[in-house]
Amino acid sequence: MNGDTTEKINVRGVRFDNVDESEALFRALTFGETRQARVIYTPNAEIVQMCIEDKAIENIINSADMIIPDGAGVVLASKLLHRPLKGKVAGIELAEAIVRESAKSGKRIFFLGSKPERDGEPSIADLAGQKLGEKYEGFRPCGTHDGYFKEEQSAEIIEQINAADPDFVFVCLGAPRQEKWIYDHRSQLRAGCLIGLGGSLDVFAGAVKRAPRFFIRTRLEWFYRLLKQPSRIGRMMKLPKFIISTVFCRKDKA
Ligand code: UDP
Repeated sequence: MNGDTTEKINVRGVRFDNVDESEALFRALTFGETRQARVIYTPNAEIVQMCIEDKAIENIINSADMIIPDGAGVVLASKLLHRPLKGKVAGIELAEAIVRESAKSGKRIFFLGSKPERDGEPSIADLAGQKLGEKYEGFRPCGTHDGYFKEEQSAEIIEQINAADPDFVFVCLGAPRQEKWIYDHRSQLRAGCLIGLGGSLDVFAGAVKRAPRFFIRTRLEWFYRLLKQPSRIGRMMKLPKFIISTVFCRKDKA
């Protein structure tokens, strides 16, 4: 760590940084100044439940330089455990704030993940770059690569990333693939900061809509996503499992 540590709050084994949005952005920008491949993970309740069930994933998540709570479920659990986090810090909002700052300062961002180019349509990563460039004048990713590659191709992707000399790499391969990929390749990557961001490029590209404000405000974004993509039901069952087991875990400790 580089000295600018924050209070850590342990939520069911995952050591979250107790930061609000502006503190998270400040630290991320500090990481971007380095070439030490600092890591930010953005777990939600589903991922914390994954960590409870698989200690190898928990170790990977806890190896990050900053862990932000990307979900109302995590914040609720922290309150149930009487160690309240300041609040949710959505990975996608942190990512957009980094883009906004980078458009002003000329920071370099590489997009890795999501669907490749098909039938003459640009890749999601390129489309995300285009859309963000329209919103934040002057912004352009310093490189992109889709997320549908075999592990054997990682070496050539790393070469491409290193040649682009990024301050930030947005790694959007879905959880836990992106966390494992970052963990496995961190030492080979010459970049400031690597961030696991799930489906964010799809949202930036306009391929997936983020929930309307009402759902975000009422902490029901997960419900909106379920309505839009009912196939997520299996993954989402981890959420009630996580909350219920947190209530019991608290009683055990009382
Ligand atoms: N994805 C990818 N490579 C894969 C599997 C998934 O690039 O091998 C992408 C997928 O196209 C999507 C993102 O990873 O853009 C995962 O999105 P999801 O909403 O499931 O992520 P979450 O934030 O829920 O983990």
